[in-house]
Amino acid sequence: MTPLERIIREVIESEGPIPVSRYMALCLSHPEHGYYITGDPLGTDGDFTTAPEISQLFGELVGAWLVKAWHDLGRPSPVALVELGPGRGTLMADIWRVAKTDRAFAEATAIHLVETSPALRERQIETLGKLGARPTHHNDLLSLPEHAMLFVANEFFDALPVNQFQKLGDQWSERKIGFNGEGRFTFGLDRAASRLPKPVVGEVPNGAILEHSPAQDSMIMELAYQLREHGGAGLIIDYGSLEPGTGDTLQAIREHQRANVLDQAGEADLTTHVDFAHLASIAQAAGMPSIGGATQGDFLLRLGLLERAGQLGAAKPTDQQRAISMAVERIAGDAAMGQLFKVLGMASHPIPMDGLETGLWDR
Ligand code: SAH
Repeated sequence: MTPLERIIREVIESEGPIPVSRYMALCLSHPEHGYYITGDPLGTDGDFTTAPEISQLFGELVGAWLVKAWHDLGRPSPVALVELGPGRGTLMADIWRVAKTDRAFAEATAIHLVETSPALRERQIETLGKLGARPTHHNDLLSLPEHAMLFVANEFFDALPVNQFQKLGDQWSERKIGFNGEGRFTFGLDRAASRLPKPVVGEVPNGAILEHSPAQDSMIMELAYQLREHGGAGLIIDYGSLEPGTGDTLQAIREHQRANVLDQAGEADLTTHVDFAHLASIAQAAGMPSIGGATQGDFLLRLGLLERAGQLGAAKPTDQQRAISMAVERIAGDAAMGQLFKVLGMASHPIPMDGLETGLWDR
């Protein structure tokens, strides 16, 4: 039994079966044993690899989008360049390398990182320090400066805890986690907890599972609120769906392999697919005038991924050119991240949503 498994068992013993979000929060963010607290999960030696870790082209194009949005917004100054869940700092470094070539932008900007992991904070300071940038760290959005903001969140929303509800017959019940006679964690249904916190769209088959994340809801509400108050724009990038739907998407990944969600608590990454239609509806309700969405592949290609890859590969030896094409295929190809990952963009004023389709979620 891992130390965290023992702690979760004690919580269940005293409180009864716990919501899935409680289990996820303990596994990922327990102050001592949480997955994101104890180490660096990224890269080939770690548990998973993200788009910015595959190619600098990803961050460069995101950076170009953010700088363009800043100009379209009328160059607000000062402006906070914010990343949520920056991992090793690679994405922000690639963004900053592009962004600081725009002198006016660089002068107006300070970098702010929302990160809870002490180990990753160190790493981010080191990565950005090499570019002469000094980021300010935050535990959450509440301490961000009260002025215009440009933000990006890549593979951040998928790590925020979700609850699950299951439909049996006409009734929805909440899925909870307890343990069985052998002391192993198991899923069960709490029939008393049947109020659905979000709308279901279309026909739902018997046995279907609906996921809802209160943490994602408050995160997007807070982002939209800050943009509305102080102006700005941002991008949320993650695996997930542009259409609403049902399904159990909770998964555990360890050393690049699928693992059992209920095994080895705190030692595997736990994520879910993000419901972008739901996030967009919250941003809309919060009064964001510009909202757009696309697959990651379409977004990157429309922003000039192939042209930029060509420039990067020009005058390089063939093996490096081949490595660049392979990276392009991984971040934008249909069989890799291109279709599975989606992008949601939003802005506080009516500005072009470059690379994204607007009107996707208009009612
Ligand atoms: N964006 C990076 C890393 C994604 S991994 C990339 O694309 O490579 C998820 C990141 O979110 C990690 O940095 C992790 O420590 C951070 N994180 C996870 N949950 C968090 C929370 N609740 N608050 C702040 N940061 C969190």
